[in-house]
This record gives sequence, structure tokens and C-alpha cells, in this order.
Amino acid sequence: MPTFFPQPIDASLVPRFAGLPTFMRLPAVTNFEDVDIGLVGVPWDGGTTNRAGARHGPREIRNMSSLMRKVHHVSNIAPYDLVRVGDVGDAPVNPIDLLDSLAQIEGFYAKIHRAGCIPISAGGDHLVTLPIFRGIAKHRPVGMVHFDAHSDTNDTYFGNNPYTHGTPFRRAIEEGLLDPKRTVQIGIRGSVYSAEDLDFAKAVGIRVIHMEEFAALGVEATLREVRKTVSDGPTYVSFDVDALDPAFAPGTGTPEIGGLTTLEAQHLVRGLQGLNLVGADVVEVAPPFDVGGNTALVGATLMFELLCVVADAQARQRTIREESPAEVEQ
Ligand code: MN
Ligand code: MN
Repeated sequence: MPTFFPQPIDASLVPRFAGLPTFMRLPAVTNFEDVDIGLVGVPWDGGTTNRAGARHGPREIRNMSSLMRKVHHVSNIAPYDLVRVGDVGDAPVNPIDLLDSLAQIEGFYAKIHRAGCIPISAGGDHLVTLPIFRGIAKHRPVGMVHFDAHSDTNDTYFGNNPYTHGTPFRRAIEEGLLDPKRTVQIGIRGSVYSAEDLDFAKAVGIRVIHMEEFAALGVEATLREVRKTVSDGPTYVSFDVDALDPAFAPGTGTPEIGGLTTLEAQHLVRGLQGLNLVGADVVEVAPPFDVGGNTALVGATLMFELLCVVADAQARQRTIREESPAEVEQ
């Protein structure tokens, strides 16, 4: 058990609008070994094919995360008492060089992973999840719970370009970083380029839950599908904010109407408690399209929801490790 657990600045002593805007008002940490969970920004949107702006996501999410408090009001999870959490800063990026950015982001996450730290990240566009996987999943593929209006399993864009925010999970599967049979996508909808757009996802065994199926199943039955699909292996959660209806999250590059409500998303994320969670992200918050900071608030709140279930999972892993070290798989 660690002896020191970093805590957010006490809002009863220092008002929320004061001080440095770190994620959740936690200490800024430079040594990844000092925390069990690192909150990370990836201010990069070089994979965006249409409306750019997600590079500004981490800063605005940090700002709005000052509204988060310390204890979850439904699960009673108090993440900062369970594990050591800190803001480990932003991954290094190069706004004018895609391949250099992918390499730098991967290197940053590889260091985080080697330190035994679990990343919860704020994007950035959805291509950032690929270098995150390259940093943390090379030794074994992860399963994934993926919230999104889009499958992000297209092959190439603009000729033969393999790297856009519409392709990260095709690449991750090809590279052996993501196990498609332990992957579930929730909220898929909207017009597509062709009727064959989802053929790859289905052929490799991804469980695709279109928005229409989610509406028919409801939250609980969807969560049963999620648990059946990812089982108890190491699982990553990737939350593209465009899974939500643009009424709730207008500040994003590729909005699609007919999406999740924020309350449905919260119920779904809370239902991930008990899974073997090894990382998470919230991506595609694009402040230039936002209204009054609302989408950044949604992003910050989802990050807190994810932090609670990941912290709970990490605390359970620690208990297993202390009792029978051989069983831990990360
Ligand atoms: Mn996406
Ligand atoms: Mn999307």
C-alpha cells in the first residue's frame, strides 16, 4: 500500500476558479512512478479529416474538471483514497508532422506503462488512441469498450493514407494491439461512405451495437453484452464524445444526431465497474465548436466517471497482487 495519496486542492479553502488548472485539481506529477493512475492530455488533432479543433481539448477539459469533486455520488467510489492519481501533463506532439507525433505520443505512453502507471487520457482526435495502444499494448492485445458514433475501422483516406481518426482501430487490430473479439462498439450511427463500411469490423468479430440496437436493449442489457464480449481480460475504454447526441456535446468535429444522452453514458460507464480496466480515454472534444464550455464539462465529467471505475479496478488488482501475485494480468 502506498503511504501518500495525492489529493485535489480543497475547494473549501481555494475556490475552484483559482490556482493552476490541472486535471481534477490534482498535483502535477513529473515522475510516472509516483502515481498508479496518470491523467494525460494529448493536444493533437492531426488525424482529423474534417472539422479540426480537438487539439484544444485537454486544456479546456482541465479547466472544466475544476468542477469535479472527490467522491462518486452513486457508487461512493473515492478514487483519490484508493490509488495515487496525478496530472502527468501532456504527451509531446508535433502539429505539423503526423508520423513524428505518433512516435512521440507512443514513446510517452511506453514510459508511463513501464512505470506501472495506468493512463486516463484526454484527446485530441481519435487517432491518438493508436499510439497509446502502441505504448501500452505491445506485450499483449487489449479488449475495448468503445463509445462512438463511428466505428473508426476504415482502411485509408485521401489516397492511401493509413492514419486518420477514422482508421485507428483497423490499424490497432492489424498490429495485434487490439483483440477484435473482445471489442464492443456502442452508439454507432449516421450516414456512411458505403454499405460496406462496417464489413471489416464485423468480419473480424467486433460486437457492433448500433444506436438503434442500444435504444432497443437499454442500459442493462447492453452492459450484459459488454461483459460477455470483453470478459475478464485486460480492457481499455475509449470514449469518443460524439457517441453523445450533439444536443449534449456539440463541441466535436463529426457530430451525428440521434446519440446517447449524458445520463445514459454515465450509467453505461458506471456499469463497467468490475471489469479488468487497464486504461481509458475521452477524445474528440473540440472547443472551437463548443457552446459555453459544455462539451468540455461533459468530457471532464466522463473522465471522472472513468477514473472511478478504473481506480476501483486498480485497487482490486492490488489486492489480488498482494494475495496471489501470479494471477495478475495487465
Ligand atoms: Mn472516434
Ligand atoms: Mn466519432
